[in-house]
Amino acid sequence: MNHGQEAQRTWNGRTVRLYHLPNTLSGKLWAWRYLILRRVTQFSVLLLFFATAHWAWVVAGQPLISGNLSASSLLGVIPLADPFAVLQILFSRHLLATEVLIGAAIVLVSYALVGGRVFCSWVCPVNPVTDLAGWLRNRFDLANALHLNRNLRYYMVALVLVLSLVAGLAAFEWVSPIAMLHREIIFGIGMGLIGVAGIFLFDLMVVRHGWCGHLCPLGAFYALVGKAAQVRIRFDETTCTRCGECIRVCPEPQVLNLNQAARLGRVASGECTNCGRCVPICPEDSLSFDLRPLINRHNQRSAETSARRI
Ligand code: SF4
Ligand code: SF4
Repeated sequence: MNHGQEAQRTWNGRTVRLYHLPNTLSGKLWAWRYLILRRVTQFSVLLLFFATAHWAWVVAGQPLISGNLSASSLLGVIPLADPFAVLQILFSRHLLATEVLIGAAIVLVSYALVGGRVFCSWVCPVNPVTDLAGWLRNRFDLANALHLNRNLRYYMVALVLVLSLVAGLAAFEWVSPIAMLHREIIFGIGMGLIGVAGIFLFDLMVVRHGWCGHLCPLGAFYALVGKAAQVRIRFDETTCTRCGECIRVCPEPQVLNLNQAARLGRVASGECTNCGRCVPICPEDSLSFDLRPLINRHNQRSAETSARRI
């Protein structure tokens, strides 16, 4: 990694170095590895739906994946359903087929294990749009025009459920820009793109990471699910120099509470999207993906070693 010119600050007697993008193509590709992987994953999910709908892709005579992000069927036998959409339907007092409930349970357990907001940064089709707005904001150094509390999204979850109960329908599903964009990419361009354009302009002109980081009730729902996540960002307190580069690039900077991360050995918040932006940017390689049980075991060993020294 090319660290370029180094800052003169020190932390615990160590020079604080800042991140510099490598000059070589291979260095750049390595630095962008998670971004590239995320785009490939997002595009692949869309391609699988599109190819099944338009080119009749089949495996063993079964459609590869039919339906949409709210409810789908993998290989004609594995049901998949958006657990937040299912929760709204349950609040709206409608009955659901057992298959849909099983599909929601499969998706819920999967995201609870890998990190709920993995959906946000690795699957959601709105993410490339909001990432583009964020990139343009940085490029043109645009300031926020409004301050929004990040907890607003949890009130949005409550509001969606109350509206579903009162109106007797899945409230967010009717207006969800995520579902609209997905449907329109798969089944044809329509009016829903206006909603996505609105999110882009809101993120670009009004609030940094305004939609995903402050308002989206689906992201908030998955943040709650993600508290149990087993794939986590590991934090090595012994090498960190508190340079702040990770916080600079993180779309949810509040999750990088480094004192808390030092105690736990990992980023704890379910609001972390496991996007991996912070990993390659850390000049000290203090951040990495790891499994929660391994992090806990390492923490325990370190604590035992320290106790023996005392
Ligand atoms: S973890 Fe963050 S603050 Fe610490 S060295 Fe890495 S980028 Fe800097
Ligand atoms: S902590 Fe890292 S992985 Fe989590 S949201 Fe921030 S940049 Fe992404």
